Amino acid sequence: MQTLKQLDNYPKFTEDMVKTHTILIPSMLDIHMSLWEAVLRQCGYKCEVMQNQGPDVVTEGLKYVHNDTCYPALLVIGQFIDNLNHRDDTHNVVLLITQTGGGCRASNYLLLLRKALVKAGYGYIPVVSLNYSNLEKDSGFKYTLPLIFKLTAAMTYGDELMYLHNKCRSYEKTKGDTKALTTKWVNNIIKQFENNKGTSYRDIKKNLKLMAQDYDKLDLDLSHKKPRVGIVGEIYIKYASLGNNHLEDFLVSQDAEAMVPGVYGFALYSMYNAIYDYKIYGMSRKGMFIAKLLIRYFRRREKAMINAMKNTKFTPMNYFAHTKDLSEGVLDHGTKMGEGWLLTAEMMELVEEGYENVICAQPFGCLPNHICGKGVMKKIKSIHKDANIVAIDYDPSATKVNQENRIKLMLAIAKERIKDDEKAEL
Ligand code: SF4
Repeated sequence: MQTLKQLDNYPKFTEDMVKTHTILIPSMLDIHMSLWEAVLRQCGYKCEVMQNQGPDVVTEGLKYVHNDTCYPALLVIGQFIDNLNHRDDTHNVVLLITQTGGGCRASNYLLLLRKALVKAGYGYIPVVSLNYSNLEKDSGFKYTLPLIFKLTAAMTYGDELMYLHNKCRSYEKTKGDTKALTTKWVNNIIKQFENNKGTSYRDIKKNLKLMAQDYDKLDLDLSHKKPRVGIVGEIYIKYASLGNNHLEDFLVSQDAEAMVPGVYGFALYSMYNAIYDYKIYGMSRKGMFIAKLLIRYFRRREKAMINAMKNTKFTPMNYFAHTKDLSEGVLDHGTKMGEGWLLTAEMMELVEEGYENVICAQPFGCLPNHICGKGVMKKIKSIHKDANIVAIDYDPSATKVNQENRIKLMLAIAKERIKDDEKAEL
């Protein structure tokens, strides 16, 4: 059995393991993860997005991670260990963890996971770190150009599908129509990837347009106004139903429309940070140039997403170049730990776009989110008088009932305002 002292000699994911080992991936974004999983399979990796949820995940997390560690880390590690506990053979698996790098505690998730694995008796299992900060290099996992292009294309499709799905699901006349259409498109894109299609700019543009037209044909009941609620917060808690107790489903069940900003925002935020790092902190010039090139690449695809919604009933999302400027005067672009200024900018954007009800989903004890989320709410409310923002804490001891009651209170205010507006229109 491996001891904690042997953490330096951790097992590596070697090239020989690519064919024999299954890569376990924590669940986070349903649509995106299905597409990314398919991309990895087509690039020769055996992989599985973990679906195990429930109280055992939290229990295992609490057992092997200190309880003052970030809640996302506790959940991700708990989900890995709970999954391993229920497998017949744990000698042919590899764990994949994403890392954003930077000064936030997210950079330590890899070490926390290795430590937890050793304590749980799984110290022989290799861990792959997926990152762009050079925190960890694993020989078996290669970032090839086709893999990167496919992952980016999948992210573009994932963002557009998530947006259209959220725009429709609360208004569908026949329950399940939106989900069926989303599944149809996810399968369609996976099939195109299998045939080496769907990644060129031309294919992306065409697919995005067809997607928007398809959702536009859904039979929706738009006759009565519902509270429109935007969700922002720490990236894992914002997106993962395991982290936010199925927040989107809950909002839909309460007759509200839920909107979650796409992953493009986070990707572009990270790239712009390389530019601000150079300008404000005098950091890498090379990093700044690479970021500028990447921004150009991403912005072209972002434009395709926005243009795809022309001539449909959907109002497209904003260009990120506009969103980023919205935080000016509220929070400086030098504030970039965790979600940093992105969190502020997304709240401002949502309010500007008519999602004046905003839930800021925060892991308890997350310093960056408390500063850039809770800390700027007063200022945002002073700029947008109609902003109805609430911060909800997520941690192992926070009860779902308490979280939902606070959200219901926010929705009650939103529904009251809709009634007042309707009366004023008469
Ligand atoms: S953003 Fe917050 S929750 Fe996430 S790693 Fe940083 S401190 Fe932890």
